[in-house]
This record gives sequence, structure tokens and C-alpha cells, in this order.
Amino acid sequence: MKRWNGWGDINKHKPLSNMAYNYLTNLLGKFDITPDIEQKILLKSIPNSKISNSFLNTNPLDRLLHARGQSFPDWISFKHGRIDSFPEAVAYPETQEDIKKIIHFAKYQELSLIPYGGGTSVAGHINPNPDSRVITLNMQKMNSVLNINITNRLADIQAGANGLQIEHQLNSQGYTLGHFPQSFEYSTLGGWIATRSSGHQSYYYGRIEDLFYNGIIENLNGSIPIKGFPASAAGPDIRQFILGSEGRLGIITKANMRIRKLPEKEVFYGVLFKNWKLGENAVRTAVQQDLQVSMMRLSDSTETLVNFKLSGENKFVNIAEKYLPKLGFSSNRCMLIFGVTGKKKKVNQTIKEARSIFNTFKSSPLIKYIGKSWNKNRFLIPYIRNSLWDAGFGLDTIETSIQWDKVNFMSEELKKTISVTFEGLGERVLVFSHLSHIYKEGASIYVTYIFRRKSNPDELLIIWETVKKAVSKKIVEVGGTISHQHGIGVDHKPFVHFEKGKLGLDAISSVINTFDPNGMFNPGKLID
Ligand SMILES: Cc1cc2nc3c(=O)[nH]c(=O)nc-3n(C[C@H](O)[C@H](O)[C@H](O)COP(=O)(O)OP(=O)(O)OC[C@H]3O[C@@H](n4cnc5c(N)ncnc54)[C@H](O)[C@@H]3O)c2cc1C
Repeated sequence: MKRWNGWGDINKHKPLSNMAYNYLTNLLGKFDITPDIEQKILLKSIPNSKISNSFLNTNPLDRLLHARGQSFPDWISFKHGRIDSFPEAVAYPETQEDIKKIIHFAKYQELSLIPYGGGTSVAGHINPNPDSRVITLNMQKMNSVLNINITNRLADIQAGANGLQIEHQLNSQGYTLGHFPQSFEYSTLGGWIATRSSGHQSYYYGRIEDLFYNGIIENLNGSIPIKGFPASAAGPDIRQFILGSEGRLGIITKANMRIRKLPEKEVFYGVLFKNWKLGENAVRTAVQQDLQVSMMRLSDSTETLVNFKLSGENKFVNIAEKYLPKLGFSSNRCMLIFGVTGKKKKVNQTIKEARSIFNTFKSSPLIKYIGKSWNKNRFLIPYIRNSLWDAGFGLDTIETSIQWDKVNFMSEELKKTISVTFEGLGERVLVFSHLSHIYKEGASIYVTYIFRRKSNPDELLIIWETVKKAVSKKIVEVGGTISHQHGIGVDHKPFVHFEKGKLGLDAISSVINTFDPNGMFNPGKLID
């Protein structure tokens, strides 16, 4: 069962070791822990729904569970019971016909509809606006791989299927979609398409926009096929309207996705560089020399240290801390995790090439244990947010992407901005970053910050808002995208015009008005 006010399955935990707890409290200070609000108290505060219909669920628990996603403000809302808007009802369609019925009911009743996949949005995508009456349409019952066309290497998949369900069904036939965002257990195909999601191994498999071939979107115009071709020169590609549409055009009901045969071999390694500059140059060189890895993730020195501390593998960490400096890997060391996926022979050859390129940058030997452990725990890592919260700490992340000649500058500026903002608020912060997705022309930068939380939710929200605003301004100023993979929702909306320009926003607005002239689908998200 899913946690109602935190991340993930209630039976899964990533506990905070004593080593990690002591490290954080020494750095950030202790916090007097206030208990989270009890669900039963929160349920009593939910106003009665004003709509009813046999295919709608209006019970308070369903409405509570669909009121917020997974952003930091969403966590404050759930943990402190400060939720000012709930859907009037939640629908769980099982067929295309159910969806049609719900859309027509919503039109008749002048209600908005919010398409809901896994609710893992970290940018406020699925939160009902306080001033609108909403039905949230949870797609999770439409979760089947309907057909695999082996000849065309395409799989027809219902949009409500989550990562686990998709891989389970495809793997049993020898195939994979290869889309592994860290929210993989819960996020869905429809959500990935609607937010332009990126998986860990997108370097090899492609981002969701590379995997999306064609699909169906349902709105008041009926079922609209969004056609795909191996390639087409017939003007602008309509598929690009759907990618990143954030629920504003209608409900994506299914999509044909490019699939691959399960790889013959897949391995992950850790490798250390003596400092950031060497590490960054190594990954840039590797990608520009077409090294056929499936992923590369380079942590700065602080993140390398924090990952050691939070790993819970104290024995390994103590040995590493004792011997690494003797080998020249002092406190500036940066950890790269990389993966190689594909045919056995090609994988073995790529590992050799990787070793040779990284050696040029004075790397450590390739360490299989670290890569293996990262792969084993990669979907468990987000569970640390639960343990951190319980121990009195908040964690949030910022992400962008930019060209190589500005990657280091952007990364440093973002960390500095976060530190200075916390200093101004009289608080301490632990901030670190990694390059999460590598491209020939640049990289995505993923910054994490951990801080002591406040017992007063207003104060906590002000901290978050102040940091978010300062960092978003900095991203724009340095020239990065406001989101590499999380989308716009409401949290990034004030900054999207810097990227798209007025004409661009007008064009997006026209597309939305054309698909959804009644303004019925997820109003207020992406653009005003
Ligand atoms: C712990 C954690 C780790 C994460 N890691 C990653 C990561 O590695 N990579 C990454 O890209 N993102 C990541 N995210 C962000 C999030 O998982 C993605 O944005 C994901 O694509 C959202 O999918 P979802 O199914 O949960 O969509 P939801 O959160 O339910 O919805 C997101 C948006 O998509 C729309 N939508 C959903 N389904 C449909 C549909 N069928 N038709 C039309 N619109 C629809 C919604 O209306 C909304 O606007 C992470 C989030 C968390 C909490």
C-alpha cells in the first residue's frame, strides 16, 4: 500500500543510519520533532462533495489522496493538514467509453477534469485550483500492454500503466521500454508523456519523447488519433503538442511506444575522479567520443561524501575514508556511476573503452561493487525523504540543463544561491549536485538541498518559496531550462515565459484552445 503522506510503499524503508543522522545534526542542527497530522483528523475537515454520480467516487479518503502530489509544498500540505482544495470526486475509468462518459458529465456540470497518473508530480501538476470544481480522473485501472508488434518493434500500452507494470508485461515477452525514472514504481506512461519525463538510462533508450510513437487523446472532440511514422516531413509534428501537454489537451488513453529486446548484458560501475574538473571533462569526452554507455551520473564532492554517509554501509565507508586519501582521492573526489547495456560483446568492449577514457583523466579503477549497489538501491533512494522528514529534515531538488561551457558555472551558481538564501533566512543548508543526464552538447544538473525543517508550516513554506524563486531566477539568468525533466505544473509557471517568449506562449495557448476550447482540462497548469 502507498503511503498517503510521504513517498512510496508503506512496507519499504530507507532508514537513516546513526552515522548519517549525526552528520546531519552536526551540520544543520537539531529539530524539535512535531508529529504529522493524523489522517482521521484531516478527513473530518474535508467539505462534502457537491456532486454525485454512480461512476464517481466522492468519499473523503479518495479525495484526500488525489488532492496533492509529491512536491515539497505538497508534503507540507499533507504533513500539516493544510490543504485548501480537493477534487469534488475521483473517477477510475476502466475503458475508453468510461472516459467519454466522464468527460460529458463534466461538461454538463461545468466541472474541470484533472488527468491523474501516479500523482508523482513534483511541480504541482495535479493539485486542484482552489477556485475550481474538479473531477480527478485516475488512470490506474487502464494499465495493460494491449499488443506487442514485433515486426514494428512497437507496443500499444494503456496510459495508466506504471513503470513496474509496463516492464513486467514487456519483459515476460523478452522486451523492454527502458524508461526508468526514479519514480518508476508509481509514475505512469500518461504522466511521463504529459511531462516529458526522462529515465535513468535515457542516454541509451531515449527520453520519453524519443520512445513515444503515436497515441490517442480523448476530449470533447472525441478520440483523437495522434499519428506516428518512422519519419515524416509533413510539416510540424503533432506528437510534440502532446509531449509536455500536462493534461491540458485531454486524456491520453494509450500510446504506441518504441520498445527494444531485453539487453543480453547490463553492468554498472562506480569510478572516482580526484576532482570535479577531471570528472566533468571525462564524461564530456566520453559522450563526445560516442562511448556507448547507457547512463552516466557524476556527483560533486559533497554529494559523493553524502552518498557515502547515507549509504548505511558503515564498514565500507570507514575503509574507503581511510584508504582513498592515500591513493590521492582526498575530499575533492567525485563519484561517477555509469552503466553499459546491450549485446555482450559490445558491452565488454565499451567497458574497456570507458576504462581507457577515464584513465586519461586519472580515475580510480572501475569499482563494480559501487555500481551494483547503486543499481540495486536506485528506486529505494527516494525513500530517504521519509526518514529525513521523520528525523526533522526537509529535502528538495532543483533541476535544469545547459551547454557544456556553462555546466560548471551553473552548478556552482545554483549551490551558491541556495546557500546564500538560507544564510539570509538565518538557517543552515547542506547542498550538493550531480549531472544526471549527459548529452553531446551539455548536461542536466540536479541539485539537492537538505535543511532543518520548521514546526510552523507557514515558515517552512516561506523558506521553500524563497529558495525556489531565487534558484529559478538564477537558472534563467545563466541560461538554463526551467525544467529538464519535471515539467512546469504551477511551480515553474512564472518562469516559463523566459524560455518560450510571448509568441511561443501564445502559440501554446492557441493549441490548448484548439484542443480544449472549453478550458476544461487541468486549467491553470503549464500556462495561464
Ligand atoms: C521520488 C521521485 C522521483 C522522480 N524521478 C523522476 C525522474 O527520474 N525522471 C523524471 O522525469 N521525473 C521524475 N519525477 C517526477 C515525476 O515522477 C514525473 O513528472 C512523472 O512523469 C509523473 O508521472 P505520473 O504518472 O505520476 O503523473 P502525475 O503526477 O499523475 O501527473 C503529471 C502530469 O501529467 C498529466 N497526466 C498524467 N496522466 C495523464 C494522461 N493519461 N493523460 C493526460 N495527462 C496526463 C497530469 O494531468 C499532470 O499534469 C520524480 C518524482 C518523484 C516523486
